Amino acid sequence: MSSHTALVWFRRDLRLHDNEALVDACGADRVVPVYCFDPRDYCQQSYGGPDSFDVRKTGLHRLRFRLESVADLRSSLRDRGSDLVVRIGRPEAVLPDVATAVGADSVSMHTWPTPEERQVESAVQQALDDVGVEPRRFWGHTLTHPDDLPMDLGALPDTYTTFRKAVENDASIREPLHTPELPALPDSVPEPGEIPALSDLDEDVSNAVQAEDEPLASPNNEQATPSEQATPSEQAIPLFEGGETAGRERVESYIWEGDHLREYKETRNGLVGRDYSSKFSPWLNEGCLSPRYVQSEVERYEDVRVSNDSTYWLTFELRWRDFFQFQTAKHGGEFFQRSGIRNRTDIDWRDDDAQFDRWAAGETGIPFVDAAMRELNATGYVSNRARQNAASFLANNLRLDWRRGAAYFETQLVDYDPASNYGNWAYIAGVGNDSRDRYFDIVAQARRYDADAEFVTHWLPELADLPPEYAHEPWTLTDAEQADYGVQLGIDYPEPMVDLDASYEKLD
Ligand SMILES: Cc1cc2nc3c(=O)[nH]c(=O)nc-3n(C[C@H](O)[C@H](O)[C@H](O)COP(=O)(O)OP(=O)(O)OC[C@H]3O[C@@H](n4cnc5c(N)ncnc54)[C@H](O)[C@@H]3O)c2cc1C
Repeated sequence: MSSHTALVWFRRDLRLHDNEALVDACGADRVVPVYCFDPRDYCQQSYGGPDSFDVRKTGLHRLRFRLESVADLRSSLRDRGSDLVVRIGRPEAVLPDVATAVGADSVSMHTWPTPEERQVESAVQQALDDVGVEPRRFWGHTLTHPDDLPMDLGALPDTYTTFRKAVENDASIREPLHTPELPALPDSVPEPGEIPALSDLDEDVSNAVQAEDEPLASPNNEQATPSEQATPSEQAIPLFEGGETAGRERVESYIWEGDHLREYKETRNGLVGRDYSSKFSPWLNEGCLSPRYVQSEVERYEDVRVSNDSTYWLTFELRWRDFFQFQTAKHGGEFFQRSGIRNRTDIDWRDDDAQFDRWAAGETGIPFVDAAMRELNATGYVSNRARQNAASFLANNLRLDWRRGAAYFETQLVDYDPASNYGNWAYIAGVGNDSRDRYFDIVAQARRYDADAEFVTHWLPELADLPPEYAHEPWTLTDAEQADYGVQLGIDYPEPMVDLDASYEKLD
């Protein structure tokens, strides 16, 4: 009987647990794990045709996280007697090359529903067909497997509640798969290759990745604004360590040691600190954690400790994540278009570079928005509540093209996922999965969720001496109060760039 050699192509599934592509490949006699740093993921891209804008696809926060995740995966594979072949190059060039070199008959991989990922997969499929190697595709990044959905993708409801009720009632969640035994590498294993250093990627991956010591990317490559200079990336404290090992540790510390799941529903709208929400998103989106594994831990916690609204709510949020994945699969490219899946052509989206740059830099003069953007720029993460308000300000108060805001988040977020990011943005911009217009009353939100102004004064220390009500609305300070508190508007902190109340009236 001839022996079988398989490649497993790791993508955003950087884990050994619950990894069906890996389990499949490990049915072979010899297995070669491969990871490609695809230059297209690190370049400057243009969006949107005539009204196009440039973005760097992967910013430094996610890049750092990814490098750590790949390193952790390699180390886990080496511990099991295998290795990870790392290449800088397009997968459709690298995979046939490695497959031919080791005489592999198949390449196992995970699939994603988003257009760019699909394009890469088609190119890989074509290139493998050309060399007579079988591509084998699996779906592994959602809680519910698409084959277990109670309806065809085409009939998927466009509102979350209808979707959630259908899957809660009529779909089961599969058990996570165990980590398989790793078969040996073939004798002719190619050079494993170095994992590039962050600073190497500028030269090696593409000419477009900016050097680490530059200030954070200004979306138009314009001069960095003062606040960008104040928070260059190297000063930001990385909150998230990439990799399956760190991801599993986070599950352990959040759910078990800290016992935070018990009150997640009450704390999840928090703004400051590590534990108000799970912070699983970066690991989920790079695939260091599988959602089914997280769910199995939630269920174990329900069995061993407590089952309550909070434990239910974490699953509820993971279903939002599923919802956007399946929505992208259903709607394809429409999901990313300005008029969205609702085909809204009635909104007059504006283009204003100066306004956009103030928003991106956290210099709008609206503290709740500015604190969100400064946290995002400094750390790559910001809470859901703050994301919603920052996005709503850009899309609804400024009426700037929502996709440009989404593209900026794409660069900066450590937990970026195309479906979750563009889905949430479109929803807030009123072109997505909701029949209502969604806009946030930003000052009311700030007062409600940041009553003591801890969040805004943390990220805007120039407002730290103001009483909370003024910290959220510094424009209401009289000249005398400004002098008393030592905050001069227009000098220490910007005047608001729009009259918020007037901008809401335009929406009604
Ligand atoms: C404008 C905007 C852009 C966003 N972009 C992204 C993105 O690129 N990637 C991303 O993972 N999330 C995105 N979100 C959703 C949400 O803000 C983050 O998932 C959440 O803040 C991550 O923190 P956490 O892991 O502590 O969440 P928790 O509150 O602990 O939730 C647990 C998990 O549920 C999922 N989840 C929760 N809320 C949502 C949601 N609204 N949509 C989709 N999944 C959700 C996430 O996987 C999250 O890790 C965005 C939200 C907004 C408003």
